[in-house]
Amino acid sequence: MQTDTYKHKGMRRALVNQLREKGIRDERVLAAIEAVPRHFFFEKAFVEQAYQDKAFPIGEGQTISQPYTVAFQTELLELKPTDKVLEIGTGSGYQCSILLQITPNVYTIEYNRALYEKALMFFRKYGLKPHTFHGDGSQGLPKHAPYDKIIVTAGAPGIPKTLVQQLNVGGILVIPVGNESSQKMMRITRVEHDEFTKEEFSNFKFVPLLGKSGWESDNL
Ligand code: SAM
Repeated sequence: MQTDTYKHKGMRRALVNQLREKGIRDERVLAAIEAVPRHFFFEKAFVEQAYQDKAFPIGEGQTISQPYTVAFQTELLELKPTDKVLEIGTGSGYQCSILLQITPNVYTIEYNRALYEKALMFFRKYGLKPHTFHGDGSQGLPKHAPYDKIIVTAGAPGIPKTLVQQLNVGGILVIPVGNESSQKMMRITRVEHDEFTKEEFSNFKFVPLLGKSGWESDNL
């Protein structure tokens, strides 16, 4: 179990100030970033890197997203404490831990078994209680739908129809869409049962979303 010292808290405060300067405004999101010890997701040798605004390898060819990206996506979700949220791409569990600071009702699905098991151990160790699943999240998680918010943390080739169908009316999907080298952040809102609005934001670079509605792969 790692400890959270004044030094770590100070580094987190500095990171939050950087995120404010970069345009993050949602106080709930900033408070969540300040509350979650990001260094818990890193090996001890890399603790210094934990509070830089950078993505970092977590094994299996995957990454823990850059804090700015986590903050930007979470802000676009307009999260409320009563929201039921689905995260696609658990990875290290960091984004999930941020979501849990704002709402207790978080479902998260990971495609890579080794990362899924590692995240599961992490959540147990720190007493966090998201609903965890292993499988292809490019199809969402229909068994537990509908959701108020869905966040995809890997780059998709398009907006999977099955995901928007799992939103409540008024619900929001945040998903990076593009090719394998760059993706535009998209926000889809289900304004009525059959009516959706689509907004485009800046470019990001994510690891690819795999699976049926992602970039096909059979390494489940
Ligand atoms: N949210 C993660 C975090 O906070 O560390 C970011 C993880 S990384 C940028 C993207 C993750 O999506 C990887 O762990 C990858 O294995 C996972 N992934 C890719 N395709 C997936 C799919 N179809 N279903 C679920 N997870 C998927």
